[in-house]
Amino acid sequence: MAEYDAVVVGAGHNGLAAAVHLATKGWSVAVVEAASAPGGAVKTRELTEPGFRHDVAAMNLSMFAGSPFFAAHREALIAAGLALVPAKRCFASVFADGSYLGVSSDLDETLAGIGALSGKDARAWKVMLDEFGSDAPYIFGLLGSPMPSLAALKVVWKAYRAIGINGLYKLARLLLATPRDFLDAHFENDKVKAMMAAWGLHLDFAPDTAGGALFPYLESMANQAFGMVIGKGGADTIISAMVSVLEAKGGKLLLDSPVASLNIDGGRATGVTLASGETIVARKAVIANIHPKQLFGRLVPKAAERAGFERKAEEFRAGPGAMMIHLALDGLPDWAAGEALKEFAYVHIAPDMQMMSRVYAEAMAGLLPAEPALVVGQPTAIDPSRAPDGKHVLWVQVRVLPAQIRGDAIGLLDGREWDGVKAAYAERAIDIIERHAPGLRTKILGMSVFSPLDLERENPNLVGGDSLSGSHHLDQNFLLRPIPGYSRYKTPVPSLYMCGAATWPGAGTGAGSGFLLAKLLAGR
Ligand SMILES: Cc1cc2nc3c(=O)[nH]c(=O)nc-3n(C[C@H](O)[C@H](O)[C@H](O)COP(=O)(O)OP(=O)(O)OC[C@H]3O[C@@H](n4cnc5c(N)ncnc54)[C@H](O)[C@@H]3O)c2cc1C
Repeated sequence: MAEYDAVVVGAGHNGLAAAVHLATKGWSVAVVEAASAPGGAVKTRELTEPGFRHDVAAMNLSMFAGSPFFAAHREALIAAGLALVPAKRCFASVFADGSYLGVSSDLDETLAGIGALSGKDARAWKVMLDEFGSDAPYIFGLLGSPMPSLAALKVVWKAYRAIGINGLYKLARLLLATPRDFLDAHFENDKVKAMMAAWGLHLDFAPDTAGGALFPYLESMANQAFGMVIGKGGADTIISAMVSVLEAKGGKLLLDSPVASLNIDGGRATGVTLASGETIVARKAVIANIHPKQLFGRLVPKAAERAGFERKAEEFRAGPGAMMIHLALDGLPDWAAGEALKEFAYVHIAPDMQMMSRVYAEAMAGLLPAEPALVVGQPTAIDPSRAPDGKHVLWVQVRVLPAQIRGDAIGLLDGREWDGVKAAYAERAIDIIERHAPGLRTKILGMSVFSPLDLERENPNLVGGDSLSGSHHLDQNFLLRPIPGYSRYKTPVPSLYMCGAATWPGAGTGAGSGFLLAKLLAGR
């Protein structure tokens, strides 16, 4: 029977980050993963044609690049082959009138675009960016601290000393505001506001959802200040480097090893049993990088004394679903709004706040949205190594979608099951891109579609195709994530800990929860 200090269930990037940090601190660690490849929502595969490498889910690695985990293990990870590629032109939105507006890491270029719409907004953008310079350490300080914790309190205290009570009130309003209220307070032009608000839909924030202002603000300002990065050759560069560092420190990764149950002895977690029947013993900690619903619904034996917690784990709400469309292309889309759009990492097709509110309301009502919001990623515009010479891949995220289909907002599709509907719905999304980039269809060499259901089949953490592993609305965020009273990674079972996107600080490739938990366990 194999025995380790810690057993990590799930080789998502958070589980691997925890494992790398613990192994670096001298712990013996095994990571057990159900799938045949590590990475969870960060994987790169030839999904369409040979030589075309597609990021199956996450593509944008800016959160990883700016993370405390990367800062702590940078040297080892880079020596293990981790390589990032910066995008000069980060993100843009196309609008119904055939124009576009984008954010480039060249501030003058961004300001010229905004200034052409509104001189006042260009000045406001510059002011916001300057203030971001002073506010960012406190915001990222909070996102990088256990919640709640003395460290988080210290961040607030430092902020108070530096920016005073009015500065703190301003930050509190930013954390609580809706995207619309925040953007209306700072900008006058609808296109500027729509360009920023589109980031709310990457999480589950429609324009009028409280708590939704932070992400559009952070993404807009961070892209402006630091640019966007993607992985060289694929997002999986971070995964293969973490696995190499882990193995170099004596850690073990077991693939094709779904955990069937968690072992509890004398009231504490003692290890896991795999579907194969093999048992792995954990002397100090079992770390579950998996969704609380699966963990407490299926893997941890039910117990009367945990019934309240088990009910809350069951009630942990998913965000809406997403669909991924991967295209192998003969050439980049010919964007009607401007040739320069070919150079942007992301082109958002979410042209105004009205449509963002509509798509969200339709999805929440169980309807296939008439016109979903699209994030069109162009990784090969930045990293041509992902496709054969002169060819490209397109990464299209279709947001936001219902997990359970009750109907079609425009009454054209009658299916209620994703397997039957996905091909036709993908065509609806491609029609939208075609409207903005005529001729796209003639460039398609291959296509692979993941419906919300397929995303969950690929990775059970993506319940109903929820890319966030749990809604980020205020009642499930900060010290309430994933379950009030359990935001510091502990569970009611001693020695069993949770990390991952379902836990604070939530979804994204920032490796936040894995690193925070490992530091708590290792004491540094
Ligand atoms: C379509 C999509 C696009 C995204 N785009 C971006 C982006 O561009 N940028 C960004 O920052 N974030 C993005 N995200 C979010 C981000 O990728 C995730 O929040 C993050 O990768 C989650 O990592 P994790 O380690 O918490 O868990 P996961 O990556 O979900 O890993 C969990 C792992 O646990 C394994 N597992 C589950 N059950 C078991 C079991 N019983 N036994 C063993 N193993 C098990 C799974 O197979 C999986 O490998 C995207 C997410 C999706 C789905």
